[in-house]
Amino acid sequence: MSPPRPPYPHRLHLAQTPTPLSPLPRASSELGVELLCKRDDLTGAALSGNKVRKLEFLFAEARAQDADIVLSCGGAQSNHCRATAVAAAELGLASRLLLRTPDPTSPPAATGNILLDRVVGADIVWITPAEYRDRAARFETECAALRAAGRRPYVIPEGGSNALGSWGYVRCLEELLPELGVPTTIVYAAGSGGTGAGLVLGKRLFGLDHVRIVGVNVCDDRAYFVRAIGDIVEDAITRWKLELPGAAFSRERDIEIIDGYVGRGYAQSRPVELASLVALARSEGVILDPVYTGKAFYALRSELAKDPRAFGERVIFLHTGGVFGLMPPAVADELAEVL
Ligand SMILES: *Cc1c(COP(=O)(O)O)cnc(C)c1O
Repeated sequence: MSPPRPPYPHRLHLAQTPTPLSPLPRASSELGVELLCKRDDLTGAALSGNKVRKLEFLFAEARAQDADIVLSCGGAQSNHCRATAVAAAELGLASRLLLRTPDPTSPPAATGNILLDRVVGADIVWITPAEYRDRAARFETECAALRAAGRRPYVIPEGGSNALGSWGYVRCLEELLPELGVPTTIVYAAGSGGTGAGLVLGKRLFGLDHVRIVGVNVCDDRAYFVRAIGDIVEDAITRWKLELPGAAFSRERDIEIIDGYVGRGYAQSRPVELASLVALARSEGVILDPVYTGKAFYALRSELAKDPRAFGERVIFLHTGGVFGLMPPAVADELAEVL
C-alpha cells in the first residue's frame, strides 16, 4: 500500500521539475558503486539549484500575504539570495538582500552570484559577520522601516530553510520514488539544513526504510546539523500535524551527517576538492560547485576509498547547483592551479 499523499502547502511554479536522474557510468566504475546524479542543478538557468524548490513554497506564502518586497540573507556569493532575487523579479516583486562581508565599506566585486543579484535589480545591503549573527533584529528594523513607508515585506530565512521551504525536498524525494525500489543511499551537501530536513521528512512520510539519507556538512559540525535539521523536521510535523508511519521521529536515528569535510572552512577550498570537481567534470560532464557539491562529492569519494561498501551498492548524489560559485576571480585562480 502506498503511503497517503503528504499535505503539501500551496506552491508556485518556479522550478523546472522533475529534474533528470542521470547515471554516472565512468564515476561508477571508478568508485565501485552504482552512482546516479539527481540533477537539481537543472531546475533552471539563473533561477536554478536547490533553493528554487524551497522558494516555490515560500513565494506562494509571500503572494498569499500580498507582499511587495522579499528580504533574505546569506554569504556574499549566496546561491539562495541569487535565486530569491531572480524569482522575485520573475514574480514582479522587489528584493532586498543582506549579504555578509568582512568589511561593508569595501564590498566584493560584482561577479558570479552578486553580478546576477545586481542584474535583476536586488537591493544589496552589505553587513558584517557580527551584524549577520544578529540578523533577526536587523530584519525587524528593515521591515519596520519598509512598513512605515507603506511597503509589505516578507522575510525568507537564510537558505530558505524553515518548515515551509523544506516541503521542496519532500517533493524532490517524491519525484525519486519510482527509482527507490531497491536499497539506495542519497548523499547531499548540508549548508543551512532545509534540503536535509525535506529529504529526512520525506523518507519518513513515504516509509522508505531501505533508503539512507546522508548529509555532508560544509560548515559547522554534525551536532549543529542534527539540531538544525531536527528543529525544522519537528516544526513541520507539528505545523501540519503529520502522521509518520512506524516509529516517532528521532533526531539521532533519522538524521545521518558525515562530518570531517568542511576543509579550510565555509566557502574555502582545498586543491584536492577542486581536483575532484575537475575530475568529475571531465569524466561525466557534470560540473559541481566549490562551496557545497564539490565538498560533498569529495566526501563521497573519500569515504568510498576507505570503505567501498560504506553506502551500499547504489548511491544517488544530489546535485544542488551552485555553478556561479566558480566564477569569482579568486575561485577561478585557485581552479586554474588544478586544470
Ligand atoms: C544552499 C546550497 C546547499 C545547501 O542546502 P541547505 O538546504 O542550505 O542545507 C547545497 N548546495 C548548493 C549549491 C547550495 O546553494
